[in-house]
Formats: sequence, structure tokens, C-alpha cells
Amino acid sequence: MLNQPTLVDQFGRTVDYIRLSITDRCDFRCVYCMSEEMTFLPRDEVLSLEECARLVKVFVNLGVSKVRITGGEPLVRKNALWLFDEVGKLDGLKELVLTTNGSQLEKQAIALKKAGVKRINISIDSLNAERFKKITRTGDLNKVLAGLQASKDVGFEGIKINTVLMRGSNDDEAADLVQFAIDQKIDISFIEEMPLGEVDHTRESTFVSNADTLKLLQSKYSLLPSTESTGGPARYWRVANSDGTSDTKIGFISPHSHNFCESCNRVRITCKGELYLCLGQEDKIDLMPLLREYPSDDAPLIAAILGSMRIKPKGHDFDLRRAQPAVIRFMSHTGG
Ligand code: SAM
Ligand code: SF4
Repeated sequence: MLNQPTLVDQFGRTVDYIRLSITDRCDFRCVYCMSEEMTFLPRDEVLSLEECARLVKVFVNLGVSKVRITGGEPLVRKNALWLFDEVGKLDGLKELVLTTNGSQLEKQAIALKKAGVKRINISIDSLNAERFKKITRTGDLNKVLAGLQASKDVGFEGIKINTVLMRGSNDDEAADLVQFAIDQKIDISFIEEMPLGEVDHTRESTFVSNADTLKLLQSKYSLLPSTESTGGPARYWRVANSDGTSDTKIGFISPHSHNFCESCNRVRITCKGELYLCLGQEDKIDLMPLLREYPSDDAPLIAAILGSMRIKPKGHDFDLRRAQPAVIRFMSHTGG
């Protein structure tokens, strides 16, 4: 059955990908993502897992074929696996994917694979345990590496490392992390630090541009530009093996240096049920009141989601030199 109507915005872009943050909480406190002291939302202000499942189903019926579950740390939410099972069963969904810090993967990789998760992004910013602890404030690198190994063992279709490089912290590790990805036969993406939420440093002081990282990597590896695109801000390169083949893809997610907005195919839903039409703008609608006022009628929800397509902005507007963050909300709230 064809899902109708579909989500098309005023610029003709089709939205077929949602990223859903299922919690603002996390067992880590990465320095670029959170401040040391975080106040998390009271539980009743966060979507229940049943509400998350209902929302995803509505979006899939509107033509969404790819769902990324993220957070906060999605796998620390109690019963998160129930949601993965429910979403994995939806007709019309082609790709269920996950972004995680990896801390729970050793225990949950098998169940996630069974639920239908196809690909996993695991955040690893350093291969030095002490430094990893410093960046995440609470994280244990060995646990994350065990989670990575467990994910490789169950055989997801794709595993990718996400890395945020910060000047003076881990910016000397780009090549080591790429070599690690090559050795592990997995992919890696470098994400430029974004001014989302107020953290304990100025963003300008730590910013590392992907253009510089690419230049450095090109001096060490033979990289082939790739035309692959996921409709997002990532540009890909492939590491050429000596026999001309390639196993590892390197992505550069550069919201500052590339204008990727014209091909944007995604929207984000926060753990509070706010539908954000753009990561870098404030345009949003609140879906939670509709979920709670009409527990068994999806019509108002569908009308609101279709209507939101009229306010999806043309593009974002990040500026590192601003005194205030461009967007007050944290990435852990909106979902990366
Ligand atoms: N906790 C999970 C994790 O760390 O992968 C999922 C949520 S996290 C918000 C998703 C991604 O956003 C991570 O790869 C993280 O490194 C990235 N991230 C968080 N804050 C960021 C920021 N201010 N700028 C750029 N990337 C950020
Ligand atoms: Fe937690 Fe992910 Fe944010 Fe790190 S980046 S604090 S792991 S939500």
C-alpha cells in the first residue's frame, strides 16, 4: 500500500527521515554536548515510549521510511528495547537506525539487531582512555569498545564512529581514529562542533574545521571523493586500499562550511514531542498536547504534521562568533 499523503515542504523537499530523541538523559556528560551540571526534564514532560511509538507510526504512514532513534543516550532509557521492537515492525519503514554512546551496547546489541536495527552510529572521540574520560566526564572507553565489538559480532549492516574534534583536546587524534576505523572495517564521520546549548567553554576556542581535518587526512591517506549522500550535511570520502578497493568511508559533517540545506530530507522530534523543522532554527510545533488530548484520534496530529511543512525553514544559521548560542537547546535535547 502506498502511504499518502506524503510530507513535502514549501521548497519542494520531501521529508522521509525522522530523528527521534527518546530521552534528554545520559550517562555521559560530553563537554561539547552538556554542561557539568545538567537539569533534566521531569518524567511527565517526556514522551512515554507508547507516545513515541504512536508518533513514529503516524510519520511512517505519512511516507517516512527512515527513523533514527537518538537522545540523550537512548539505550539508558528503561524499556527502550520495547520501542525498537515496535518501530522495527512497522510496514513501510525501510531503515531503523540508532545513534548511541555505546555504553550499553555490549548488553543490548543482540536485541537491537533482532528488533530490526540496521545501522549503528557510536560516538568515540578518543582512543585514549584517560582522555576519553576527560571528554565524556564519566565514560569508560573499554566499555564502549566492548560494545563496538558486540555490535560487530551481531553483524549490523553498518557501524560508524562519530567523532567531534576539539582544538587542544583531541584534534591530534584524527588520523589515529581513521586508522582504527580502517582496522575495524567500519566507517567514521567527523562532526564539526555546533553551538547548541551553553557549555563550559566558548565554541570558537575549540572549533576544528573539517576542511583542516580533511587536509591532514589527505596527507596520510589516499582518499577518493564519493558521491554518496544521505540528504544531510555529510560529505563522504573513501579510503583507497592498495588494491584499489575500499572498506572505510570517511564522512565530514560540516554545518558551518557547506550549504546542504537544499537537499534536507529530515525533521527532528525532541523527547518532549517538539517537532523541529531544522536543527539550527527555532521553528517548531508541539505534538505532545495533541498526543495527550486525542489519545485515540490521530487526525489532529496528522493535520499538524502536514501543516508543519509550511514552516520548514530554507536553511540554518549557525555563527560561532555569537556571544549567545545560536540555538539555546542542547543537542541531547533535540537529538543528534
Ligand atoms: N548519546 C548518543 C551519542 O553520543 O551518540 C546520541 C545523542 S548525541 C547528542 C548524538 C551526536 O551528537 C553524537 O555523535 C555527539 O558527538 C554529537 N554532538 C553532541 N553535541 C554536539 C555539538 N554541540 N556539536 C556537534 N556534535 C554534537
Ligand atoms: Fe551523552 Fe551523547 Fe551528549 Fe555525550 S554526546 S553527553 S553521550 S548525549
